[in-house]
Amino acid sequence: MIKEPFHSYGSYLKKIYGAAAFRVGIDAGFSCPNREHGRESPGCSYCDAFGARAMYQRTEGALADQVDENLKQDIAVQTGKAVEFLKKRYKAQMLLLYFQAFSSTYASAGELRAVYDYALSLQDYKELIVSTRPDCLDREIVELLASYKQRGLDVWVELGLQSSNDETLKRVNRGHSVSDFEAAYSLLNDYGIKTAVHLIFGLPGEGGTEITETCRYTASLNPAGVKFHNLHIPYNSSLYDDFLQGRIDALTTEEHLEYVISAIEMMPESTVIMRLTCDSREDERAAPKGFLKKTEFYNLLRTEMLKRGAFQGRLYSNDLV
Ligand code: SF4
Repeated sequence: MIKEPFHSYGSYLKKIYGAAAFRVGIDAGFSCPNREHGRESPGCSYCDAFGARAMYQRTEGALADQVDENLKQDIAVQTGKAVEFLKKRYKAQMLLLYFQAFSSTYASAGELRAVYDYALSLQDYKELIVSTRPDCLDREIVELLASYKQRGLDVWVELGLQSSNDETLKRVNRGHSVSDFEAAYSLLNDYGIKTAVHLIFGLPGEGGTEITETCRYTASLNPAGVKFHNLHIPYNSSLYDDFLQGRIDALTTEEHLEYVISAIEMMPESTVIMRLTCDSREDERAAPKGFLKKTEFYNLLRTEMLKRGAFQGRLYSNDLV
């Protein structure tokens, strides 16, 4: 039997649950602190979220621990549609609740508890997965997330780093530093929460040296998971101007493939490779155009790694830590 060249998310889920498990993605209308007025940063330069759906109206005081009826209905409708689709198309049995949109811990711990509890009450879920930014996590919120483990759920946090280079983070207006990331990561670690680190390859001003440094840094954390993205340049982003002026372009499939192979080889064997490319609608982005679809890229990567004898962990060294 062929030994797979990397620890894919699909194989991880099958190993844990003995069957395929599927994410039910919910947008609970959380906003992002990096896009709000009065903040120094105008939002990440590659962000196309401006003008997106109405954001969750954060409440104060007595109402803070309750979920607004409209939001409840919205979550119930999203859940119903997603589960119906997954059951019909894949005969899905195992479900994972996934708060993916924007910064899904950007509210008080009381508000978050109410929203998570309500969403969890709608189906029998195996995991709670939350995607967020380093500046949207404090001890109270991390304690809340950890409390779901006592209810028998596995808890994952997907945490955006994107680059381990502070200059790059400033250049793209991330609105947080590498040390902010480190503080959030170590808090999650203290509470035994699994963390998946988000990285973007091809950010402005970055080439092989910076990307390798980011991968080396990420590997040194020995994260539970990692997600690789190739930079997308949406029409509705501030980066689009730079693209028009010829100051930035997106990676080609071949360039991204090389970065991903090196990155996988640098990661510890235990780290789950949860994503290989970015997802966005082709008609909403200026670049890349004609990039391989998710499954095509997966197949190309696997074939290429097998052909080269490349495998996850080959370049990982404990000396990195
Ligand atoms: S953190 Fe996400 S939602 Fe917020 S500005 Fe950056 S890309 Fe946009």
